[in-house]
Amino acid sequence: MPALLKRLGQVLGWMPAGFFGGIEVPDRKLTAHEPIRECPVPDVLILPMKQHIGEQCHPCVHIGDHVLKGQKIAATEGYMAAPVHAPVAGKVVKIEEHRIAHPSGLGLPCIFIEPDGSDGEHRYEPWADWETRDPAELRERVRECGIVGLGGAVFPTFIKLVRDQHHPINTLILNGIECEPYLTTDHRLMLEHADEIVRGLSILRYMVGARECVIAIEDNKQDAVEVMRQAVVRASLTGVRVIAMPTRYPQGSEKQLIESITGKQVPAGKLPVHIGVLCQNVATARAVYHAIEHGRALTERVVTVSGEAMPRPGNLRIPFGAPVRFVLAQCGLEDLDGVHVLHGGPMMGERLRSVDVPVVKATNGLLALHEEQIHGLNAEEQPCIHCGHCGEVCPIRLVPNLLADHCRNDAFERAEAYQLFDCIECGCCSYVCPSSIPLVHYFRYGKGQLAQIRRAETFAEESRRRSEARERRLAREREAKQARRRARKASTPAQAEDGEG
Ligand code: SF4
Ligand code: SF4
Repeated sequence: MPALLKRLGQVLGWMPAGFFGGIEVPDRKLTAHEPIRECPVPDVLILPMKQHIGEQCHPCVHIGDHVLKGQKIAATEGYMAAPVHAPVAGKVVKIEEHRIAHPSGLGLPCIFIEPDGSDGEHRYEPWADWETRDPAELRERVRECGIVGLGGAVFPTFIKLVRDQHHPINTLILNGIECEPYLTTDHRLMLEHADEIVRGLSILRYMVGARECVIAIEDNKQDAVEVMRQAVVRASLTGVRVIAMPTRYPQGSEKQLIESITGKQVPAGKLPVHIGVLCQNVATARAVYHAIEHGRALTERVVTVSGEAMPRPGNLRIPFGAPVRFVLAQCGLEDLDGVHVLHGGPMMGERLRSVDVPVVKATNGLLALHEEQIHGLNAEEQPCIHCGHCGEVCPIRLVPNLLADHCRNDAFERAEAYQLFDCIECGCCSYVCPSSIPLVHYFRYGKGQLAQIRRAETFAEESRRRSEARERRLAREREAKQARRRARKASTPAQAEDGEG
């Protein structure tokens, strides 16, 4: 297409504007044609107390309690949090620390539930009349149902669903991009549950008062584009566009998607709401529909279980808490010798140190790969040759080689000054690096260290304030004591004189 025509289309809004950088990756969507299937329920489910970005929850059940499917089992008073619900009816058999899918290999307190085979379920009141309700009431329901961003970010959804007169939402974007290789959960959801996703879109739109809506799908999923267009027509919605975006990684990353669609950049350190945009994943929209119209809490999700080392790859609906080892066995993988298991996609996911960890709200993929499919993971790191390729592909326009240098040399303050925290860890820079430098690992290390430093600073500041407060209290007490002593001294001779008189 001639450049002028393309630019005109971008200005008029019928052509996506595109984003800076990015790469083309082989899509390896082995499960694109596999219908979603049910994963059996394991003998025990392990529910971590934190499956979202924010504060950790605390159990609100005890060992021995019987719980219903959908019953809240953990929560916190904190704002930035999402409660945890029982994915099955059963008995709480244990509450203790267990390993989770995290690069640190560390654990979290978890509630263990043994299913009792019954279909006892707790549901909130279904609200088919949601259009007559206050958006704040719907927001509270989304919060209560434990809904988080299911694209992988797991940010508590209710926090974004605010009507703020200072920052009105003009555009609501439903993200159906799924640009990571292998992953096909959103693709299958759109094909199989398009009407529910569109209902979710209508609810979200009502909640934030968005004028226009865009459902964005990569052009390697034309079947989903067609199905979603038909669903929008069936729902008789106006002001909703379904657009096919060029297939380019990381098109699905929030800021890149917003830039592609609106041509506007979310400024560093700001949120999409600051430029009048709300972005939600298609699976999240469907979860909102279930929470509002059916009163269902978030207790399961669709996960792509795939990879060249997976005997029977598929898209499985899995209850949270199912052990990864159990899920892999459902797809025929029991012997893990020479197999690398990834939690998430190959670009942003993490290699699992152990498969005895539970599926959680963030689990969008479980991949079993052979050595040769793991791009550069085990290649030996070579010195930087300053080719600049990493900067050319960075969608945030960072300077990855310099950033990595600062992190490697523990110059964290300088890394921060070079916008370390704007890095979205997309992995484009590592992917193109001819020296096999694991740049993203350095960024994660730097962010982790800085977070620790900040925590230590906060702790030191808090200790200093407490110690100063104690000093002031002691000084006041000393002063008061001296004043009492002076008063006693002053009164004693007077008494003596009185006595002598
Ligand atoms: S791509 Fe790799 S070798 Fe090239 S400048 Fe970046 S870090 Fe250095
Ligand atoms: S991982 Fe960070 S530095 Fe590397 S390309 Fe992505 S955003 Fe840029």
